[in-house]
Amino acid sequence: MRLANRVALITGAGSGIGRESALLFAKEGASIVVVDINDQGGNETVAMVREAGGQAIFVHADVSKAADCERMVQQAEEAFGHLDILFNNAGIMHSRDDDAVNTEEDVWDLTMAINAKGVYLGCKYGIPALRRAGGGSVINTASFVAVLGAATPQLAYTASKGAVLALTRELAVVHARENIRVNALCPGPLHTELLMKFLDTEEKKQRRLVHIPMGRFGQAREMAQAALFLASDESSYVTGATFLVDGGITAAYVTPE
Ligand code: NAD
Repeated sequence: MRLANRVALITGAGSGIGRESALLFAKEGASIVVVDINDQGGNETVAMVREAGGQAIFVHADVSKAADCERMVQQAEEAFGHLDILFNNAGIMHSRDDDAVNTEEDVWDLTMAINAKGVYLGCKYGIPALRRAGGGSVINTASFVAVLGAATPQLAYTASKGAVLALTRELAVVHARENIRVNALCPGPLHTELLMKFLDTEEKKQRRLVHIPMGRFGQAREMAQAALFLASDESSYVTGATFLVDGGITAAYVTPE
């Protein structure tokens, strides 16, 4: 098993990438701390992990709140003794996120608070725990829009993911000699609730698909596979990486017919 005896805290694990990662990491031997603001989704993930024979607990925490982040890490160490993998994955794409002219300040502030500040707070409390464990792996979910401008505007989201990428690189450099690796997972457009709520018409979906060489949206499970690599010792010489898992979207100038 690739994560035997490891403890992984995954934020946003009540759905999508986080849930698939919880299931996959548990299958590979990790004990999972499922963190979400959605109690129902979080508890469902825990039940799914346990049904498959794994170990998991649910912690309700809002990643934009310092006290919640401190508590989620405390509960991880209390339940399983140590923390080895910190997957800062929770994020939102607000339905009113738009271009600079039309995005309201409340949308900007909320998006930055969850997507960018949430990663900082996860690290603020999580990195000391990784140190106590003798090292570990931090994975921050950014996005392909951190490296490409999207024609369907979502300015706050894009800015927040750019911040995730920048802070990932700096964290990687700062903690490299502490046996702590920090990488950014950059998914392409996925067939998850988060994006499908945003691309809510066939026209909007097609507008996106035209740019993806593979001609399809990715699956949350495919992101979990990539996160597993970053979480495990197989990626022992990988840190500060912009790990793009995007069906070729960032490689394409013109996509095949
Ligand atoms: P999702 O909506 O299925 O899951 C996100 C989870 O985060 C939900 O369970 C939600 O309740 C939780 N969450 C939201 N705000 C939170 C908060 N303040 N505190 C704790 N939990 C909170 O979405 P997903 O597609 O699995 O997204 C996971 C990550 O991947 C996000 O950071 C997202 O930006 C990123 N991403 C998604 C796509 C995509 O196309 N879906 C593409 C690139 C990047």
